[in-house]
Amino acid sequence: MDASKQFKNLGLSKEILSNLESLGYLEMTPIQEQGLPFVLGNRDFIGQANTGSGKTAAFGLGILAKLDVANPRPQALVLCPTRELAEQVCAEIRRLARFTNNIKVLTLAGGTEERHKIKSLKQGAHIIVGTPGRIKRLLEKKSFSVSNVKILVLDEADRLLEMGFLDDINDIAAFTPINRQTLLFSATFPHGIKTLSASIQEDAAQVTIDSQHQQNSIKQVFFDVTAESDKFDALLLILGHFKPESSIIFCNSRVICSKVTQMLKRRKIDALEIHSDLEQPDRTLVLTKFANKSCSILVATDLASRGLDIKDVGAVVNYDLPSDHELYIHRIGRTGRAGKVGLALSLFAGKEKAILDSIAEYLKITPQLMELRALNKKKPFVSQSSMSTIYISGGRKDNIRPGDILGALTGDAGLLGKDVGKIQILEVNSYVAIASAHVDQAIERLTTGKIKGRKFRVGRA
Ligand code: ADP
Ligand code: MG
Repeated sequence: MDASKQFKNLGLSKEILSNLESLGYLEMTPIQEQGLPFVLGNRDFIGQANTGSGKTAAFGLGILAKLDVANPRPQALVLCPTRELAEQVCAEIRRLARFTNNIKVLTLAGGTEERHKIKSLKQGAHIIVGTPGRIKRLLEKKSFSVSNVKILVLDEADRLLEMGFLDDINDIAAFTPINRQTLLFSATFPHGIKTLSASIQEDAAQVTIDSQHQQNSIKQVFFDVTAESDKFDALLLILGHFKPESSIIFCNSRVICSKVTQMLKRRKIDALEIHSDLEQPDRTLVLTKFANKSCSILVATDLASRGLDIKDVGAVVNYDLPSDHELYIHRIGRTGRAGKVGLALSLFAGKEKAILDSIAEYLKITPQLMELRALNKKKPFVSQSSMSTIYISGGRKDNIRPGDILGALTGDAGLLGKDVGKIQILEVNSYVAIASAHVDQAIERLTTGKIKGRKFRVGRA
């Protein structure tokens, strides 16, 4: 193993290092290797690297290394463009902090639990992760103070700007101490970033990780489907041929996204759609079901292509080619993560050929074209998920931990551990993946029994 890539050279605490090992973080990703020395050295910093390149730990470890746990007031503030991203960053920081005692990380990002959140804030929180709108409003109401903040992080800075948060960010920065450290992370680098940096950073070091680097681990195949109307049949063919264990199908609009999902469902293929028309709780549920294997196909607009840490996707399918090259890179970045070879399958019809040409030119690749005729048509694609998701009306606020739920499900005459999948504890509720054949048994057990000595509502999610 390359010594320069090892976390142990960074001077992090023993707890953090052994936790990283237990998480399977054996070596630093390029942005961590090149960024952490600046982050830990108190420099203002701009880091540009692909989605999935480990940017969260590049600032998360910096934050954890500098916390004064005895001081319960917020010392780090992380701004994210959406609530999902805030929740994901919060979850990753909690993972990184697992073996370090009593570090509190709180999200402040929309939703309805505000009174509860303000109570948690009063009890102390070391790290706040949230969206600019909500944070600014709470600061203006004096619901909490950021006068002890040592580190301000803008995560997904390109999207923060795109979503029009520039003024809010400047206002929030003005609430924090002038001698703070300011870190800015982004997958792409539009003009506005320089201006933003100039207004809130000082003498920032900058590191850019070449996205070409990641391309090599993704097999990209393109299919000329001739006409738009042939795309759906082509989709079924390529799914049947490649049989990805899980896939995200990207469409250019919500309308196409819904249409493709409906057509898949009509063929008894489990699929879920995600786009900006869904309310926040529905989006969370969709992502939960996809991550816990209750559904293996996600049909998405570009909402899902950036930032969201959707792991281990067997294939990314571009039902439509995105007209923006950067979007293409972000979409296919969902597959082939963490050393695996990914698969990106793109359909194009008619005038999309021009888009393919410009993507190929941008990526400096000769696109590999495959004939639909060459695909194996023998077996139609079937996809029925082996897991289903159940809902429990209790969560982190009830101090429920995964072990409590697992215990309640698997005790005497209960389910076997292997029939219980991913357990996700949210603020006020939880989701658990259960082998489909055992769902009724699981619901029955949790309904008649107790978790942490209490009754909760339980049902199919
Ligand atoms: P980004 O913010 O750049 O899109 P994330 O921070 O969400 O990327 O990280 C992507 C995934 O890689 C996460 O699942 C994270 O747990 C994992 N990861 C991060 N750093 C490492 C590492 N050094 N070794 C292995 N996995 C890592
Ligand atoms: Mg990120």
